[in-house]
Amino acid sequence: VGSPSTQWLEYQGAPTGTDIECNGWRQEAALRMLNNNLDPEVAERPTDLVVYGGTGRAARNWDAYDAIVDELRSLEDDETLLVQSGKPVGRFKTHERAPRVLIANSNLVGKWDDWDHFHELEAKGLIMYGQMTAGSWAYIGTQGIIQGTFETLAEAARQHFPDRDGLRGTITVTAGLGGMGGAQPLAVTMNNGVCIAAEVDEDRIDRRIETDYCMTKTDDLDEAIELAREAARADESLSIALHMNAADMFDGLREREFVPDVVTDQTSAHDELEGYYPSGYTVSEADALRESDPDQYVAESLETMERHVEGILEMQDAGAVAFEYGNNIRGQVQEHRDVANAFDFPGFVPAYIRPLFCRGKGPFRWVALSGEKADIHRTDEAVKNLFPAKEHLHRWIDLAQERVSFQGLPSRVCWLGYQSGDDPDGLTERARFALRINELVASGELAAPIVVTRDHLDAGSVASPNRETEAMKDGSDAVADWPILNALLNASAGADIVSVHDGGGVGIGNSLHANNHVVLDGSELAAEKARRVFTTDPGIGVARHADAGYEEALEEAAESNVHVPMEEQ
Ligand code: NAD
Repeated sequence: VGSPSTQWLEYQGAPTGTDIECNGWRQEAALRMLNNNLDPEVAERPTDLVVYGGTGRAARNWDAYDAIVDELRSLEDDETLLVQSGKPVGRFKTHERAPRVLIANSNLVGKWDDWDHFHELEAKGLIMYGQMTAGSWAYIGTQGIIQGTFETLAEAARQHFPDRDGLRGTITVTAGLGGMGGAQPLAVTMNNGVCIAAEVDEDRIDRRIETDYCMTKTDDLDEAIELAREAARADESLSIALHMNAADMFDGLREREFVPDVVTDQTSAHDELEGYYPSGYTVSEADALRESDPDQYVAESLETMERHVEGILEMQDAGAVAFEYGNNIRGQVQEHRDVANAFDFPGFVPAYIRPLFCRGKGPFRWVALSGEKADIHRTDEAVKNLFPAKEHLHRWIDLAQERVSFQGLPSRVCWLGYQSGDDPDGLTERARFALRINELVASGELAAPIVVTRDHLDAGSVASPNRETEAMKDGSDAVADWPILNALLNASAGADIVSVHDGGGVGIGNSLHANNHVVLDGSELAAEKARRVFTTDPGIGVARHADAGYEEALEEAAESNVHVPMEEQ
């Protein structure tokens, strides 16, 4: 990717404050979000342009980064910039209500849609892996995933331990403390539980401890088990990072006949070459093997992954609640190691998230372009006031204020949905809150505009048969028309940045997904865009699930007047 650009070295994170370098806030928001993605506090390996999720990048190389920055600085209010796999490739006159930036990352034609072709094209400098929010400039650090992880574990606790206060008194065992996985220990302790998380890279462990995502560390499995048992017995929450390969940890658990209550994983198993680490090597030894003998690396990585999955399955057989946390570890070992029973433990979406998707609920997130924490605290108050009866949302906002450190631009996430049934103006939850933020910007109560975006993992924005669309009721798991319609619809509704990617979360060829940003600068134009996009975006989620025959989605469509032509009850 070349040497880090001098512009980036000067930025070292997003510009803040009310003075802008671009011709308008929409372009400025794109510039700030790109630089926020690459803030050393936010990105996992910013000098390689890697943001998170294995090799998810924000720009193709440093020359392309510089070119994007230059284009954004001079982009007019009625122009649209095209970014193809992290490289600016065109700029056209469109109109003020159109998106300012359109992004497509990592997309390949079906027959060629796999890591081998991707790596060939990447070596020629023709494509980039954008993961989900890396290449769409919507990553906000580990704080971005924390609520999703918190909600998933809360739902798991409700289903499996209904008499406990969340996960109180239980032990969750997982692995991977990277950009996203690093949220796991905090999400477990926020649900009052105890967590042991294996991680091979001690630097990652230290990063999570420094930022209060994890409490303590050890490289001794006996010590980890002892500490976990003591805390669980005392009903106290605790998180322990275990410096060890996940597959070796599971072998050790089996030898000690220790069965946790919950088992999952967030190593970067979706990428056997550049994400997952084989057993028997230190991180630097493994990194050297990857360079010298990539085939050997892949063979050993997949062998370790097989042991890892067998460990999870054994724990499930012994009574643990097990689920895959969206890294395609089941798909990987089924495809490459012929493990026939890999899918005997469920994915987290069908197990815990789909009922939320049916209601158009998903990860609404907002970022203070001012850089001021006070702006987010003001919006925290606003969302609580707007939805006084939502106790769970109030608990989440209070916990987030107390326990989640900001990284880069101050941001917040909370899951909001459609549910316009109870609003006199027929506005969706997401639209109501976005309009309230826009008013706060207009009245000067916030120091600068707010940009609203979300994860690609949302109700109507992704096709991913091993994750978001696993086991759809009508068998439509691999139908990828929905994310494309989502992007086209949100561009038509006037979102400011719209993107479509391949391969996020689960690896090239395994998913297609879309994302958008809307900049709330207090103007009437922003209000108009917010009203439209925050209706279309959750609305297509309701439509997608109604089309698949889910009762909750059909009900939501009926209650909230989502017009789904052939499915109306
Ligand atoms: P990351 O690459 O930043 O971190 C992965 C971590 O796993 C690294 O710290 C690495 O050292 C560690 N690791 C790799 N192999 C290991 C092994 N065998 N034993 C122990 N540790 C090992 O990735 P991330 O952003 O944290 O994402 C992790 C995975 O979760 C990815 O596959 C990603 O696609 C997926 N993901 C899931 C969700 C979700 O909503 N559930 C969201 C985003 C990403």
